[in-house]
Order: sequence, then C-alpha cells, then structure tokens
Amino acid sequence: MVKVHTAQLDLPSPGDGEIQDITPLVDREVAASGIHCGTVTVFVPGATAGVTTLEFEGGLVKDFKALWERLAPRRSTYEHNERWGDGNGHSHVRASLLGPSLTIPLHSGKLIMGTWQQIVLIDFDNRPRTRRFICQIMGLEKG
Ligand code: ZN
Repeated sequence: MVKVHTAQLDLPSPGDGEIQDITPLVDREVAASGIHCGTVTVFVPGATAGVTTLEFEGGLVKDFKALWERLAPRRSTYEHNERWGDGNGHSHVRASLLGPSLTIPLHSGKLIMGTWQQIVLIDFDNRPRTRRFICQIMGLEKG
C-alpha cells in the first residue's frame, strides 16, 4: 500500500539570496518516513524563495549568487516595487525563474543523487525570516 509522509520544516534564514544545504533535513525525513521506494518532493511555499540542486561548495555558492545579480539585479527598476514599496521585485523575479520545487527519486531507502549534488533552498527575499518548506515522501514501505 502506498504511504504518504508530509513534513513542514522551518529554516531560519537571513534572506538576501542565502543558499542553504537542506539535504540532511530531507535525508532525516526519509528515514523517519519508513518509505523505501518512491518519490520525494521538496516545495517551498511563498513567492520569494526557490529550490534546486547544487554542488554545495564555497566557490560555486558565490558563483550562483553572482549569477542572480547579473540575471535580475537588485538595483534595477521593478514595477512591483513601484506598486508595493517593499523593495523585493528582484526577489520575486529570481524565485519564479528558479522555481519552488524539486522531485527526487527514492530507491532502497536512499535519494538517487550525484555524489557532489546537494539539495539547496535559496531565500531571495530582502529580509531575515523563518522559511518553511515542505518535504513530502510518497511510496512503498520495505517488505
Ligand atoms: Zn514583494
């Protein structure tokens, strides 16, 4: 019988494009779920953060932050800022481009991922906050 395990996890974040490796948190939920084979979905609710995978090492983390500044510069003009005055037009544009979710296959109790591939949550917002993300595991238990 298919089992579904859904966890809501809170992650303190300074914002401003902070990139955090959430792989250990996802691994922990997989272990807690007892699900052996299936699919893991990671999703961040909210319009100023996104999820992807990255080799989580200092150089690449800096490179990825620099890329977002080139793609959607903070100091550019955004209609969103003109309308709402919250100054995070660049955050919304970046989050939509990256996307809010990721699906990872689960097999034999392990995420099928590359050795140097980590799951990262990027908080593009322009203020510190606690980001909540969803980790949903769906599949079969062992045996
Ligand atoms: Zn906004």
